[in-house]
Amino acid sequence: MAVNPLQHLMPTCSGARAAAAGTAFGAEPAEDPRSGTLRVNEIFHSIQGESTWAGEPCVFVRLTGCPLRCTYCDTEYAFREGDAMTVGQAVDRVLGFACPLVELTGGEPLAQKRAFDLMRLLCDAGLTVLVETSGAVDISPCDPRAIRILDLKTPGSGECARNRWANLADLRPADEVKFVVTDRADYEWARGVIAERGLATMVREGRLRAILLSPAWAQAAGREVAGTPGLEPRALAEWILADRLAVRLQVQAHKVIWDPGMRGV
Ligand code: SF4
Repeated sequence: MAVNPLQHLMPTCSGARAAAAGTAFGAEPAEDPRSGTLRVNEIFHSIQGESTWAGEPCVFVRLTGCPLRCTYCDTEYAFREGDAMTVGQAVDRVLGFACPLVELTGGEPLAQKRAFDLMRLLCDAGLTVLVETSGAVDISPCDPRAIRILDLKTPGSGECARNRWANLADLRPADEVKFVVTDRADYEWARGVIAERGLATMVREGRLRAILLSPAWAQAAGREVAGTPGLEPRALAEWILADRLAVRLQVQAHKVIWDPGMRGV
């Protein structure tokens, strides 16, 4: 049998694949971030209803799953419902709406590690990326270009003990902090946190974009959430004015525009 004189220089089958992929022998090829899998509840185009971005057209990517069970949660359907989708497919769906603003929400979007790839690729595509997060998970791995809307869970949420206070040290000038207020006790708690943690000073000095106080919308009990009677926006407005509290009152605009129980808006 003829022997190829260059046989000893030819890579083995696996070596040939590694060489073709441009990697050193023995090293794993770099994973394509578009190929990772997410569980997605829904992707839709609507009007942003909250934060300082309220009123702007926005694409929402609602990821499945949340480790919390807030009393006032209006997205219980996102705890478990959803379909597998690659990060690349999600990016392409978002870009298909031709909208410069996108929000990752949930559920708790940061509970899925591929959410960090998704936000990075959306930022790379030139979109403004908002991340609505419960405040219970570490926000520090977020892309530096992403804007975090960080909930601080009030006692009335039933999940106050889950607040990850270390997140406050990671806040950036474009980020916003939100309190959903169910009653007067929640309001006083939020007022105390704002003072103790120096949040109003952070806004004044340009280290935080806004502090949002949102009256809880009435929510019926579900299978996994307790429900809440809600709080009149007027009551919250009067407390804020009486205290000269340096915050921004927000009412969920999408619930005023559409039926409050409607999905996909
Ligand atoms: S953090 Fe609370 S309000 Fe948000 S999805 Fe989870 S349970 Fe619902």
